[in-house]
Amino acid sequence: MPEMPEVQGLVDFLRGRATGLTITRVTVAAFAALKTYDPPVDSLVGAEITSAARHGKFIDLATTSPDAEPHLIFHLAKAGWLRWYDQLPATIIRPGKTPIALRVALSDGSGFDLTEAGTKKSLAVYVVRDPQDVPGIARLGPDPLEPTFTRNTLAGLIDGRRTQIKGVLRDQSILAGVGNAYSDEILHDAKMSPYALAASLTPEDIDRLYAAMTETLAEAVAAASGKPPAELKDAKRRGMKVHGRRGETCPVCGDVVRSVFFADNSLEYCATCQTGGKVLADRRLSRLLK
Ligand SMILES: [Zn+2]
Repeated sequence: MPEMPEVQGLVDFLRGRATGLTITRVTVAAFAALKTYDPPVDSLVGAEITSAARHGKFIDLATTSPDAEPHLIFHLAKAGWLRWYDQLPATIIRPGKTPIALRVALSDGSGFDLTEAGTKKSLAVYVVRDPQDVPGIARLGPDPLEPTFTRNTLAGLIDGRRTQIKGVLRDQSILAGVGNAYSDEILHDAKMSPYALAASLTPEDIDRLYAAMTETLAEAVAAASGKPPAELKDAKRRGMKVHGRRGETCPVCGDVVRSVFFADNSLEYCATCQTGGKVLADRRLSRLLK
């Protein structure tokens, strides 16, 4: 799943390539992906893209036309991606028979597809007058890379939450942009168990968590910046120290990276760095053993 750094990379790319161009055609291939009907998708045709922005993991293309200023907003979800073409292919898209969910053609012949792999579809597209009309954006917590986001902002968000810190970091209504991968990386860098109770963190824990969060995200954003969409996934994978690296060696201490499996994902951690050597129970196994 693309998270804040990859989404920021896509936004920077679109800002450079699509701003100033007019949308000439929008093809919806996956009807379930389109979550809004007013303004209609066709209101984008003839509109000029004026800017690209990120809200958490949402991408927002602002446009202007003689009658309206609709925003094209999308969320790539777990298996979605953006494929850019300097020259958009002329192939006909057959709804339901393609991984393409949406195709946008631009006035200089370029354009992009939003694609989604797999059978569980959750990529979401919105055409709205105001980004705040997207419920997932209206609900977003603060963005950890905003200059106004301080150590005390984080302390305030965590205060009194009797839930595991891993879940707090991933909750978009608490903190915008962090998902499963970067929360693993942040917690590894902070030397903190994913299961640590948020409310029980000490002021020193919060210092460490804040430093780990801002450094991990800033580094990943810097690595993603300036890369074309096709290279962003690899850049993400390369930057990971524990996430997606089960069985490999922790680059900090040399212990083996371990996983805990859940119904539809897993987390990775280093026991030596994060849990005082304690191996966390594999939820999937323990469920089978019951
Ligand atoms: Zn380690």
